[in-house]
Amino acid sequence: MVSGGGSTPPPDALISLRGIRKHYGGDSGQPAVTVLHGIDLDIRAGEFVAVVGSSGSGKSTLMNILGCLDRPSAGSYRFQGQDVAQLDADALAWLRREAFGFVFQGYHLIASESASENVQMPAIYAGLPRDERVRRSRALLQRLGLGERLDNRPHQLSGGQQQRVSIARALMNGGHIILADEPTGALDSHSGAEVMALLRELAGAGHTIILITHDRAVAAQAQRVIEIRDGRILGDSGGQAVPPVAARSLPVLAQAHAAGGAAATPWLAELAEAARSAWRGMRLNRVRTSLTLLGIVIGVVSVIVMLAIGEGARRKVVEQMGTMGTAILYVGSQPPATGGPAGQITEEDLAALRELPEIRRVMPVIGDPITVRYGSADKQVYVFAASREMPLVHHWPVAQGRYYTEAEDRTLAPLVVLGAKARRHFFPDTPHPLGQQLIIGSSAFEVIGVMSERGADSGAQDYDDMVFIPYQSGRARVYQAQTQPDYVVIEAVASGVVHAAEQALRRTLLARHGGREDFGIGNAAARIQAEAATRQSMAVMLGLIAAVSLVVGGIGVMNVMLMTVRERTREIGIRMAVGARQSDILRQFLTEAGLVTLVGGSVGVAAGLAVGAVLIAAGVPVVFSVRAMLGAFACAVATGLVFGYMPARTAARLDPVRALAGE
Ligand code: ADP
Ligand code: MG
Repeated sequence: MVSGGGSTPPPDALISLRGIRKHYGGDSGQPAVTVLHGIDLDIRAGEFVAVVGSSGSGKSTLMNILGCLDRPSAGSYRFQGQDVAQLDADALAWLRREAFGFVFQGYHLIASESASENVQMPAIYAGLPRDERVRRSRALLQRLGLGERLDNRPHQLSGGQQQRVSIARALMNGGHIILADEPTGALDSHSGAEVMALLRELAGAGHTIILITHDRAVAAQAQRVIEIRDGRILGDSGGQAVPPVAARSLPVLAQAHAAGGAAATPWLAELAEAARSAWRGMRLNRVRTSLTLLGIVIGVVSVIVMLAIGEGARRKVVEQMGTMGTAILYVGSQPPATGGPAGQITEEDLAALRELPEIRRVMPVIGDPITVRYGSADKQVYVFAASREMPLVHHWPVAQGRYYTEAEDRTLAPLVVLGAKARRHFFPDTPHPLGQQLIIGSSAFEVIGVMSERGADSGAQDYDDMVFIPYQSGRARVYQAQTQPDYVVIEAVASGVVHAAEQALRRTLLARHGGREDFGIGNAAARIQAEAATRQSMAVMLGLIAAVSLVVGGIGVMNVMLMTVRERTREIGIRMAVGARQSDILRQFLTEAGLVTLVGGSVGVAAGLAVGAVLIAAGVPVVFSVRAMLGAFACAVATGLVFGYMPARTAARLDPVRALAGE
């Protein structure tokens, strides 16, 4: 029995334990269980050691401590003379990656990866280039008789084959120290014998082997047998035999520190690796993945479509402002609220209004449907009699010929300008009808121009159907000497002075009408501005709804990621056992979240465009913005990463030994 916790370790010891204890529990009420009661043990490089003991004697606990998967409750563990308790998580990961190779009773292969990929895993975390990795894993698997099984997934392999895959994995980064916990425990005797032969061969090649077994016959194949019972070492056949072959040279732990924990994994290579394995995970869990994707897609689609609808509505208003301007007022006669007859808007009133500095244009209008004839064709047409300023007020150019002048208006010239549709109606075969005569009511008018096509208008009347005649001749020749306009369109000098113009207008007319407000003023500009504000707030609300759905999508990602982490605890444990750093695990899970949202975002943008196309086909004004699309896409990815971070960190902080147990 080896005892004497204070004895100095031999200078050539690779591993040396002094007084190692391990307790479980004791913190949450139940009594603490002590599993290891002060283990002293020295192992030299190149030894083939078997730890034998009955089930429950603490062998696996000891192995987990040796392999730095677990920390002892008390005692010291020196590796190459260095106190392991002083090492940080990255240095421990380095040890697991570069120094140890684990072989477990339950194989612990990652179910979703092929044999070759399982074997490559330690090299991925060691930063070995891909080609090198593939070549080496193939060579190892061929050497272990699995050359034909490279692409098989674990469930397509027998137990013995799986155990050989896990031995190949242990050897991938050199396997200087192989820690094998009941490697034959789950195998039939033939496969078990094969695995033992392999371990003996590796021991012969200079690997340090620590074999844990409850089977004395298996233990007897080692050079040194340590017997353990109830957490105490009962016997040790001793390290008397000098290792037959010079032990394989092991990179020194100090190098790990010099290299900042380890040779840093090439960032991009590992990202590609993480993306590949994330993609595989997504494919294996198609239903769950599609549901998560759906959440994100809905979020992105709603952002894109709602912003596009909001923008479409806004543009529509802006367009209206463009055609009529944002500085338009209407005046008409109207009975005063106090009772009495409606007033008359006289020519003198209009002249006075034209003098106001806030007002740029004053356009009296009389309009009604009148029968218009050309040859034998006649039609009820809205005849728009207004001053020569109509094209300016409406921002509407003439396409052919010209508009009438102020002088022509004043002298009651019988001239007419046609809307584009009216031109097509009366002169279907005459593209240039200038000089033709139209009969409006009972008077003849000469066509002097055709307006440009205005297209679908937001207003109830379609201006393209109308014909336009000078105000004075309309008043005299068509509208039977009507004494005042139906209404007057007033344009203020700028949209900013619309209110001032309205006030000046009211003052002037009040003064001229003896203080009676027998007229009405309509402020179209204020109405349009109010509508624009309403649409703006509608757009903001739509945007908010969309943002909420994006957040809901993000929470979906988090939910799935949390489930994934829980489901894949064992996989995380395996990755840590083969040497993944916490940052590797974090990156992997963040990559997965990123990939889901990247795919979801792309599908969302595509679907958003499709929905928008349907809306456009249905006549809804929709304006896509590249900014909104990029924004929604970026938001989706950002939400995924933000909500994916917490589960990813949870995964990265898992305790290796507990993760391996799948807790
Ligand atoms: P062996 O590998 O020799 O069969 P283990 O090291 O797995 O034994 O376990 C030794 C003892 O420690 C067992 O009695 C077991 O119940 C206990 N044990 C192992 N892990 C835990 C744990 N996480 N919590 C509490 N007890 C544990
Ligand atoms: Mg065990």
